[in-house]
Amino acid sequence: MNLAFVGLGHMGLPMALNLLKGGIPVTGFDLSAGQMDALAAAGGRRAASAADAVAGADVVITMLPASKHVEALYLGEHGILAHAPKGTLLIDCSTIAPESARKVAQAASAKGFPMIDAPVSGGTGGAKAGTLTFIVGGEAAGLDRARPVLEKMGQNILHVGPAGAGQIAKVCNNMLTGILMIGTSEALRLGMAHGIGPKVLSDVIAKSTGRNWALESYNPCPGVLESAPATHGYAGGFGVDLMLKDLGLAVESAMGVGACVPLGALARNLYDIHSKAGNGGLDFASVFNLFASKNDANPAGSCP
Ligand code: NAD
Repeated sequence: MNLAFVGLGHMGLPMALNLLKGGIPVTGFDLSAGQMDALAAAGGRRAASAADAVAGADVVITMLPASKHVEALYLGEHGILAHAPKGTLLIDCSTIAPESARKVAQAASAKGFPMIDAPVSGGTGGAKAGTLTFIVGGEAAGLDRARPVLEKMGQNILHVGPAGAGQIAKVCNNMLTGILMIGTSEALRLGMAHGIGPKVLSDVIAKSTGRNWALESYNPCPGVLESAPATHGYAGGFGVDLMLKDLGLAVESAMGVGACVPLGALARNLYDIHSKAGNGGLDFASVFNLFASKNDANPAGSCP
């Protein structure tokens, strides 16, 4: 199998490295030379462009920031649909608008390419460990072809429905994750303002009804979890601006179908304030710093 991987960022690079470890040859392309160096150091092939990467590929995986990048890469003059061999399986793992996913999948289908949307959950930790969850939209036949490849990078592969359905389910999940991170931050900050240590408070909540993934696996308070981005200056992980994008997708898609998402909309605004204060590149758990109180030992940031 010849596999092309375009978009070797925080998520794409560790996913591509797991494919190499699993014995699948990978030709990679990213706008960042440093990311391609890391792929090459692990035995991958560097391509000169996206068109070069996909020429001769049986399978193409893309892991890009947002809808505009995906549409440009697939539909553009020098894009994937113009350069991949006919019949190549296309897998987009980026989190993008469901309408964009449907648009690209329709254009792919019209040119004879099977395509699935397969956004992921599990964060950079899951990408490194090969334990991602793939949330798939598209035809079952495309997923059947993709499954042996996805299994090298993830543990759960869930088929939601037709093209774009994977993106809808992913946006629902990320809206909840964004809300949970804010709620967890508020609760920890409230206890800390009263002088309760964040570790003991996290232990209490983890054994009580407030337990959730943001608290237990991605705690936003520095020093509570060694593996969490919070403990490492909120570096790496899942960027504030990516969460802001996903909450924007949630609010837009809610308006499209008349659904009511008041907490999703509030969460989007809070991450927006946090991003505009210069934190867009930090991990999204840094929203914790929005809720500092003057009584905290370390009152970074301020509550709006
Ligand atoms: P990232 O910004 O670290 O990586 C994106 C990469 O795409 C960058 O290296 C960039 O140089 C590259 N790129 C952009 N345009 C390109 C082009 N035209 N050709 C080649 N390369 C191009 O982002 P990430 O954190 O890896 O996230 C990627 C996607 O995965 C996003 O849609 C995000 O929402 C989703 N996601 C991220 C996480 C996470 O924890 N980081 C978790 C789940 C899903």
